[in-house]
Amino acid sequence: MSEITKESTEEKSRNFIEQIIEEDLRTGKHGGRVLTRFPPEPNGYLHIGHAKSICLNFGVAQRYGGATNLRFDDTNPVTEDTEYVDSIKNDVQWLGFQWVNEFYASDYFDHLYEFAIKLINKGLAYVDESTSEQMATMKGTPTEPGTNSPYRDRSVEENLDLFVRMKNGEFAEGTHILRAKIDMVSSNMIMRDPIIYRIKFAHHHRTGDKWCIYPMYDFAHGQSDSIEEITHSICTLEFIPHRELYDWCIENLEIFPSKQYEFARLNLTYTVMSKRKLLQLVQEGYVTGWDDPRMPTISGLRRRGFTPESIREFCDRIGVARRDNLIDVSLLEFCIREHLNKVAARRMVVVGPLKVVITNFPEGKVEICHSENNPEDPEGGMREVPFSREIYVEQDDFMEVPSKKYFRLAPGQMVRLKSAYIIRCDEVVKDEEGKVTSLLCSYIENSKSGNDTSGINVKGTLHWVSAAQALPVEIRQYDRLFKVEDVAAAEGDFKDHINPDSLQVITGYAEPVLKEADVGEKFQFMRKGYFCLDADSTPEKLVFNRTVGLKDTWGKVAAK
Ligand code: ATP
Ligand code: MG
Repeated sequence: MSEITKESTEEKSRNFIEQIIEEDLRTGKHGGRVLTRFPPEPNGYLHIGHAKSICLNFGVAQRYGGATNLRFDDTNPVTEDTEYVDSIKNDVQWLGFQWVNEFYASDYFDHLYEFAIKLINKGLAYVDESTSEQMATMKGTPTEPGTNSPYRDRSVEENLDLFVRMKNGEFAEGTHILRAKIDMVSSNMIMRDPIIYRIKFAHHHRTGDKWCIYPMYDFAHGQSDSIEEITHSICTLEFIPHRELYDWCIENLEIFPSKQYEFARLNLTYTVMSKRKLLQLVQEGYVTGWDDPRMPTISGLRRRGFTPESIREFCDRIGVARRDNLIDVSLLEFCIREHLNKVAARRMVVVGPLKVVITNFPEGKVEICHSENNPEDPEGGMREVPFSREIYVEQDDFMEVPSKKYFRLAPGQMVRLKSAYIIRCDEVVKDEEGKVTSLLCSYIENSKSGNDTSGINVKGTLHWVSAAQALPVEIRQYDRLFKVEDVAAAEGDFKDHINPDSLQVITGYAEPVLKEADVGEKFQFMRKGYFCLDADSTPEKLVFNRTVGLKDTWGKVAAK
């Protein structure tokens, strides 16, 4: 077993979040209740990093008999959209999870406003009219203390009056803000009188034009957790410095004591994982949309042919880390390959066709062969594959002058056609330039698969299709979207590292049963890889996305 797998099997039993929860259950904190939340900001589509957070939040709740809220963190009116809300709900459910409550941080705007009033009344918040430059100067640096704003000691009455007028739209954006009055010399910069409300004359996707002041993240997130009585608020490491403020707000507002816990965000090789960057790829046309099969979004992965099971398995295997790391994308590919090997029906598709004429097979005759849909699945059943005098095999499966251990077609050599007959290559037909145009072969009559009495042993088995019945299909072969392993660490703009060859479109010749495939249905094209039918397909032209090749590169990486 590789290092990674070993580690994750141990972690699988109990990650550090689960250990904390078990301790809380043991001590009876929150009366044995576990309530987590998944809090996406509806400003983009979910990606595989979010899947990690979803699996963790919903996973621990399930494990300890608890539940999970879906909460849209929609406090920034400018970037949010209902299109994103719908896609997020769809993606969470597709991953296999169901929330108990659907909430919106914007539903708490009245609540949060009252919380702000409460802080002002306690002398713990004030309205500041400094310019942003002045504020930046007074903030200090990590090594130098900050200085107090001249507005810091306004009276409660004056602060209340100004804050209400902020709310009533009497002031322009950027002229007034509400700050918590904490400590301008704190070693934690976030505690130096953080901004908790700002003016923004923006239309909100849910509250419309009701508000022109909006709470900052730090004055919305913890409070929303508390309003919902979340017991374990799990977020990523960059929020560690915010925890002190999270606790300060809850303590001073005297509200439900939710607690924040941090884990490492998922980073993947050859991948960008920030919605802002993904949005750029979409807007600037590097990809066809959020669901482009090269995108690390859940919708992209789904369209590419990933299954929820494979994504959950991946999240499980990587475990829950406390330090940032970069996970090899081939582990994700390994997980989908493993799952599809079990569930995907096998089909034959030839991409570089070489015509083979079976000279001793009657012209016009079509014989039906039966082929197992999936040798890994005893209940997978059989399908019919037509066999006739003219078939296609891969050009790569023929060598005129074969090397020593070449067991495919060559002059005089025999191979088995999968689920059909053994054939022998008798003659090579070439054009004027000497290029091979077809092969003349003969078949061994009593060698049919399942009823082979020929006694002939051949080493090579080839996939093939009957020429007359073959369906030309479009195949989209995807490669990594980026050329460098660690895109975030690479020099220059991330778009400088885009792989120009991340999509190759080729034509394949498919066995006719693929006509009946449904959009999203997954197959193994034998000896080629895993593919799924894309929604761009029409009755005239089927389009398949290559999900992943057959070759396991992860095994090699892990064995190193
Ligand atoms: P991005 O930087 O991609 O926009 P975000 O953190 O701003 O991500 P949110 O919508 O705020 O996106 O995230 C919702 C939840 O998903 C948060 O709890 C966040 O910590 C978590 N999350 C986001 N990205 C990752 C990641 N790469 N790995 C693990 N969890 C993540
Ligand atoms: Mg965010």
